[in-house]
Amino acid sequence: MEIRAAVLHEAHAPLRVETLTLDPPRAGEVLVRVAAAGVCHSDVRLADGDLGDGRWPTVLGHEGAGVVEAVGPGVDGLVPGDPVAFCFVPPCRACGQCAAGRSNLCETASASAWAGTMLNGTTRLHLADGRPVRHFNFVSCFAERCVVPAASAVPLPAGLPLWQAALLGCAVVTGFGAVRNAARVALGESVCVIGCGGIGQQMVAAARMAGAGRIVAVDRDPAKLALARARGATDAVDASAEDPLPAVLRLVPGGVDHALEAVGNPATIRLAWDVLRPGATAIVVGIAPRGATVAVPALELLSEKGLRGSYYGSGNATVEIARLGRLMADGRLEVADAVSHLTDLDGIEAAFGRLRRGSGARTVAVIDAALAGAPEPAQVAAAWG
Ligand SMILES: [Zn+2]
Ligand SMILES: [Zn+2]
Repeated sequence: MEIRAAVLHEAHAPLRVETLTLDPPRAGEVLVRVAAAGVCHSDVRLADGDLGDGRWPTVLGHEGAGVVEAVGPGVDGLVPGDPVAFCFVPPCRACGQCAAGRSNLCETASASAWAGTMLNGTTRLHLADGRPVRHFNFVSCFAERCVVPAASAVPLPAGLPLWQAALLGCAVVTGFGAVRNAARVALGESVCVIGCGGIGQQMVAAARMAGAGRIVAVDRDPAKLALARARGATDAVDASAEDPLPAVLRLVPGGVDHALEAVGNPATIRLAWDVLRPGATAIVVGIAPRGATVAVPALELLSEKGLRGSYYGSGNATVEIARLGRLMADGRLEVADAVSHLTDLDGIEAAFGRLRRGSGARTVAVIDAALAGAPEPAQVAAAWG
């Protein structure tokens, strides 16, 4: 079938909305009509060539929600009409990482994700001239429809607004998992969240739900800091106005119990290290450009400080996306406030510009307005000026 999609033809080139051919789902795959897609910094990283060469032409978009339209042979548990959120690491349940309970690091999924193919090494997307188009982490939801592995389509409770559910499969599961599974924040502990964009806002909410005592939000944008406060941050540090390191240490003398970095920049990763108390660990979620390195004072290792990454929530993403979706449907997890902009396929490039500038929280591209159930874009943007 023919679909409209936002295509990245090469690094540093703007996305081009054009008509592509999408093949039907093969064994173990499903066809999803996309309702809405979140725009994430990882999309920009790939578009800027920061994740390596040769991954284009491609259709980006790895966070979104839609409705199943067709299922391929051998698919159980999904039928046409099911609302789903995308999971960009479909676990194989057979590799060493999956067997060890680290399905977010599934080796099988990782290999295909880097190659930009489906699990059998081929693509379902083609340019008008027949050339293959790579998938982005199996999802490629900056498009009217996509074909994904069945494990990448997580069923959602009926009635959950899909423009909000769109955030489940990256920002929400990554942010909540970093706090719960990687940091394991305990009651009353202090947390510093560095970078209050799409994922940082979810980390603030997760820290609040985990019962953190002090939650210090750090960003360069006062509007994002105001949102972080509304979502549970007890303190805000504007890094555009003051040096954030002494500011955080003034608020939490001796250092914080947990620092969570959601920028992917060597300077902010170092900041996460520097704000720690002895014995604490910094969790890095932000994706740094390939080749970037971080140096820490080796002597401080004696104080048992740690630095670790957290990828895709450090847990069982398909299970957690389903649970987080249930919390949203029950009104116990607010997500709409973290959406600063609504746009459409043509507006994703402008959302990339906002991410490069660090302005706004999450942009959601509404691909099918009726399915997404979204408000008018002006209603959302008004709060952000
Ligand atoms: Zn993402
Ligand atoms: Zn696996």
